[in-house]
Amino acid sequence: MSDDLRDLYQDLILDHGKHPRNFHTLPNANHEALGHNPLCGDKITLYVSVDDKGVIQDISFQGSGCAISVASASMMTEMLKGKTTAEAAKLFDYLHKSCTGKDADETGLDEDATDRIKALSGVRDYPIRVKCATLAWHTLQAALKNEKKVSTE
Ligand code: ZN
Repeated sequence: MSDDLRDLYQDLILDHGKHPRNFHTLPNANHEALGHNPLCGDKITLYVSVDDKGVIQDISFQGSGCAISVASASMMTEMLKGKTTAEAAKLFDYLHKSCTGKDADETGLDEDATDRIKALSGVRDYPIRVKCATLAWHTLQAALKNEKKVSTE
């Protein structure tokens, strides 16, 4: 990755950390879960509205945490709106592999989403931060399985 690209990705994370998108409750959500990362103190509540075809119609979050956890949640809500829960699961797998330094296959994945995930995957140099970057995604999995709470511990 070039330095320019790295700077761009860093700006993206800072911007989302300071000005999170889709930061509100969702009255018509049919899935909801609370995610907690005790190592860092990040806490987010995720709201998801999924239709009967498995398409994420709307997704939002609230909570507080470090810049990485908030930026990750914010970017996740932006990239998953309009996608199916199956696509969301594939992107989570891609994120998890990217953040832990494993080979991640981006075949068939939305390029805009994988670019954003690459921005976040810079955390793999800081293992403790991986839990911050993946918290929103773990919370999404819990919400979709109708588990009310998830902890990274
Ligand atoms: Zn954190």
